[in-house]
Amino acid sequence: MSKQKVALITGGASGIGAATARRFASNHYRVMIADRNLAQAEELKNTLNAEYGSNQPNGDIADCLEVDVSQRSQVEQMVTSTQQRFGSLDVLVNNAGVSGSGPVATAPADHWQKVMDINLNAVFWATKAVLQIMLKQGSGNIVNTASISGLSGDYGFSSYSASKAAVINLTRTTALDHARDNIRVNAVCPGAVVTPLIAGVLNNKNIAENALDAIPMGRAAQPEEIANVIHFLCSDEASFMTGAVIPVDGGMTAWSGQPR
Ligand code: NAD
Repeated sequence: MSKQKVALITGGASGIGAATARRFASNHYRVMIADRNLAQAEELKNTLNAEYGSNQPNGDIADCLEVDVSQRSQVEQMVTSTQQRFGSLDVLVNNAGVSGSGPVATAPADHWQKVMDINLNAVFWATKAVLQIMLKQGSGNIVNTASISGLSGDYGFSSYSASKAAVINLTRTTALDHARDNIRVNAVCPGAVVTPLIAGVLNNKNIAENALDAIPMGRAAQPEEIANVIHFLCSDEASFMTGAVIPVDGGMTAWSGQPR
């Protein structure tokens, strides 16, 4: 039997990250759920172990750890702990993120730094740490959860949009740097996804109607629809894909914005 692969998922306790943890666990990966919300991460860990752990040769399939990805030392410890816990590290999903809106003129003073620390700098530090392991083992997959807000601007989303645009080119550059190392690096760009991150938008009837009308498919995604693409990108089926930036957006980026 081939060795069980290991996936580390940041922001793995909720939304897209939780769906991704479940998707990998369902395909026999061992998963580390890394999140600042330890209680929610533990709940998911127990659920996944109950659902998928009993069939595994190694017993439990999931574990979790508490991390604030805005802290470099914690990010590095997260990577070390995952490797120590499971013995290898095959997949990193840099998924933790915060929204935080506001035009430049009115955004709170600490807003920019906070969003950059969580959405961008954490991706750099986690990738740097994990590459030391992947280069030694001669293989690996990294997927970054960017956003369609990183492909073009979004009203009132100054720092968020800038952080996701930077993640997209960090993805491309890292993919180039390791294209001959058997390490693939890709990004997904979700549109609207039904998660707590955009609950404020989706729970407001008037805003939600407009937002959903701007999506050609007329609905938001379920987190599983993003998780499936992340899982695919890390699979052998995507063996010739690296540096790819994939919108998963119900057709939003296919639309120029001209009236119907
Ligand atoms: P979510 O709020 O459901 O999940 C985000 C998770 O990240 C939470 O569990 C949270 O605790 C964790 N997190 C936040 N800050 C953290 C930190 N400093 N350290 C550790 N963990 C932290 O949101 P989601 O929608 O699943 O978002 C996941 C990713 O998808 C984000 O990067 C987000 O920008 C991106 N995204 C979401 C949407 C959407 O419509 N929901 C669209 C495009 C991109």
